[in-house]
Amino acid sequence: MPQMYCDCCHKQTAHKVVLKRCESENASMLRSLVCFFSTVLQGDHYVKMEKQYFCRRCNHQNVPLAASITNIKAA
Ligand SMILES: [Zn+2]
Repeated sequence: MPQMYCDCCHKQTAHKVVLKRCESENASMLRSLVCFFSTVLQGDHYVKMEKQYFCRRCNHQNVPLAASITNIKAA
């Protein structure tokens, strides 16, 4: 279970990961952006699955932009 910073708890908490298929028809602007960045960062061009992270404490959804960037392998 990934540890992430929660905007609601204001500290690192455990998060549950929910995979959701990107649906551009119903997507909001933010959702589309998150989906786009996750696709680019993961190089996952075929199966567009959006990872959603929910805080285990308060169930607030957090977007791991910084975490995704630091998880990229250098080599
Ligand atoms: Zn929280």
